[in-house]
Amino acid sequence: MTRLLGLAMLVVALLGGAVPLGGGATAYADDRAYADDLAYSTDGAPPRAVVERRVIGTSVRGRPIRAWRLGEPGKRRVVLISTMHGNEPHTRQILTSLRDGRRIRGIDLWVIPTYNPDGLARHSRRNAHGVDLNRNYPSDWADLDGNYESGPRPASEPETRAVMRFLRRIDPVRLISFHQPLNGVDTDTKDSRFARRLAWALRLPRTRLDCGGRCHGTMTGWFNARFTGAALTVEYAAHPSRHRMTREAPRQLLRVLGARRVAR
Ligand SMILES: [Zn+2]
Repeated sequence: MTRLLGLAMLVVALLGGAVPLGGGATAYADDRAYADDLAYSTDGAPPRAVVERRVIGTSVRGRPIRAWRLGEPGKRRVVLISTMHGNEPHTRQILTSLRDGRRIRGIDLWVIPTYNPDGLARHSRRNAHGVDLNRNYPSDWADLDGNYESGPRPASEPETRAVMRFLRRIDPVRLISFHQPLNGVDTDTKDSRFARRLAWALRLPRTRLDCGGRCHGTMTGWFNARFTGAALTVEYAAHPSRHRMTREAPRQLLRVLGARRVAR
């Protein structure tokens, strides 16, 4: 009987596209599932904040990696990236809320809510090759295994190459990479003053994210070494509230970035 029930739950989960968790909760249940492209309403009109959308590449399994441009072209360029690790899905809501809300003024903002769509679909940290994308960048790359599998060589993964290409084109002043669950903003970084302001604005503790020693092959490390702009990592806890992700954090971010929402 229990097995039958388990099987029935699995079928329901597969049909519904949700992943069953312990305690009967479902991941992504109210989170637009895996489909960032569902932002468009039934009449096909894009959200008002969106001025451009782009598929910047595809994952190992062929899923599109999507970027949306919000704000004002010509202003200071900022890129926000989330869910580089597929088992850290909540911060996507910050980016999709910015995208789906009112028009943004004051910065030229790009958001990539789902960097690792294959990992998100499987609720896995790594991509479909089993590679941790945040150890795959050609900056102090090292041959790592297990949870931090760094791939056969630097930039071996299509997801890594897509984002490298995109960042070279956009060349942002700021790049913020959202993760979970370490709960803090890395202030031991290239622009520590901005990192401190960001930690204060987001009501997160200041911390030092040193990968347990030295960081190898990370996106922020690669960006900070090669671009004039500054990249930094923001970590929320394992279960930030939906209100915090969809209401507070977007507002706090816009304010600290010198941007604002306008009525139309
Ligand atoms: Zn992460």
